[in-house]
Amino acid sequence: MHELSVAQALVEQVRNLADENGATAVAGIRLRIGPLSGVVPELLETAFPLAAAGTVAASAQLHITPAALRVRCETCGAESEATPNRLLCAACGDWHTRVVCGDELLLERVELDIPEPPNPRTPEPPTPDPRPPTPDP
Ligand SMILES: [Zn+2]
Repeated sequence: MHELSVAQALVEQVRNLADENGATAVAGIRLRIGPLSGVVPELLETAFPLAAAGTVAASAQLHITPAALRVRCETCGAESEATPNRLLCAACGDWHTRVVCGDELLLERVELDIPEPPNPRTPEPPTPDPRPPTPDP
């Protein structure tokens, strides 16, 4: 299952982010997936909990935004929306088009649970001196 390795790579990326930010958990993950990315959003949603199990991302909510597929025509230069099986220019109908966007798999946003830093105004409790008193010479 291709989506499982995608999910594992995603979890890895999110874990690094959580580590860097001192997060204790990941609340949500927002992804943008284009129709030409080769990733089926439904399968990724199924694979994600398997990849995230036992990690900081285990309880994260996965939100997937489907990205639009756009092509630029190499004949007339117009940019238009297209469908994966019909990459035609909407302006002139030419098939000499280049995909502008629609093949992306983007990690748009990660919501992290970061514990509150300790209040700096709270004085530290006095630490008892662990050393035994030095005897007088
Ligand atoms: Zn065109």
